[in-house]
Amino acid sequence: MGEFADLILEGVYCESCGCYTGEEPGYPIKCEDCREEGDE
Ligand SMILES: [Zn+2]
Repeated sequence: MGEFADLILEGVYCESCGCYTGEEPGYPIKCEDCREEGDE
């Protein structure tokens, strides 16, 4: 269960919009589009 959520936690999918990132860093990341929007 929660397979998609697990992939988001591993950074395979953007933690913000859920699109495929093409990476697998092992922790949640955002895709390039979401990074550009920035929220710092
Ligand atoms: Zn995104």
